[in-house]
Amino acid sequence: MSVEVGELRIPVVWSPDCLLHEPGGEVWLGLRETGTEVPERATVILRALQDAGAPVLPARGHDIAELYSVHHPDLVRHLAGIWAEWEAGGYVSEHGRDRVVPYVFPTAAMLAGRPGRVPAAVHGRVGLYCYDTMTLVGPGSWEAIRAAADAALTAAELIAAGGQASYALCRPPGHHAGPDGYGGSCYLNNAALAAQALRKAGVGRVAIIDIDAHHGNGTQAIFYGRPDVYYGSVHVDPGAGWFPHYMGFADERGSGPGAGANRNLPLAPGAGDDRWLEKVAQLSEDVRRHGAEAIVLSLGVDAASDDPESPLQVTAAGYRAAGELIGGLGPVVAVQEGGYDLPSLGEYVLATLAGMQLGAAAD
Ligand SMILES: [Zn+2]
Repeated sequence: MSVEVGELRIPVVWSPDCLLHEPGGEVWLGLRETGTEVPERATVILRALQDAGAPVLPARGHDIAELYSVHHPDLVRHLAGIWAEWEAGGYVSEHGRDRVVPYVFPTAAMLAGRPGRVPAAVHGRVGLYCYDTMTLVGPGSWEAIRAAADAALTAAELIAAGGQASYALCRPPGHHAGPDGYGGSCYLNNAALAAQALRKAGVGRVAIIDIDAHHGNGTQAIFYGRPDVYYGSVHVDPGAGWFPHYMGFADERGSGPGAGANRNLPLAPGAGDDRWLEKVAQLSEDVRRHGAEAIVLSLGVDAASDDPESPLQVTAAGYRAAGELIGGLGPVVAVQEGGYDLPSLGEYVLATLAGMQLGAAAD
């Protein structure tokens, strides 16, 4: 379904370095498959937004220490250096292993209560940070990971400076990346970095609304114990067999001082606009109650009916309605998460941002 949008005035923050990450597929249930998190995702979104008249601003570079605001420095150092170590270790030249992929994971079951250690072998160390086999690192990955983080931070700065809406075209996405681990095609948590940047700029209370089809377990983990950054997500029910499997259930409500500031609204596979928008409205009410002064929208459009990565059935009109609801809550930084159906991806992102623009105007 095509949605009328008019001219888009929301600034799009972008860095061409986001195209340098070529994961080269994923290892999915033991087989190397082509994967769907491809550079073309970003180019089709950029084209759709530019065609609608959106101004495009370059992502500003940030000091690496900015990334430590939500991530352990060891994770950041791992991501920054692992490809060079992998190459130097001969994995590519001697064994044809052209991407970094873990094979052993220090799970609680393996450690049996003993403290973890840092393995001497490069291939042993990857599982210390990467929690699945589908999030591969290649030659340009770090440059893109860094650029996506820069885009999110720059978009947050536009809001901190008084802007009403901004959009960061982040690739790779980020909401599955936690304080000290990565997975789910995500490496650093762009939305969490944006939220923390807003807090640092003096915004008292921030809310993250996550409308990606999957639960943002990384974002939840980062803010789970904090009352100042609310996290709310609508997603396909992990209890019905969907990634991230172990997190995203309704009874996860935050801990300690963060109790009540985390909300998961899982949906049954097959849910479409009506049920999905009901949950988005519920999250919006929650955000109002929380008293958020600025919103970070984890904008995944993989709940789209044609998306290969989820069983939800949301239309572009549904996404526009969600954008309108969220745009009416206050200033919004939208951060690109998932969305994998190349023919409709641009239309869905555009519809959401057009809705945000409409919602902000009506506010
Ligand atoms: Zn997703």
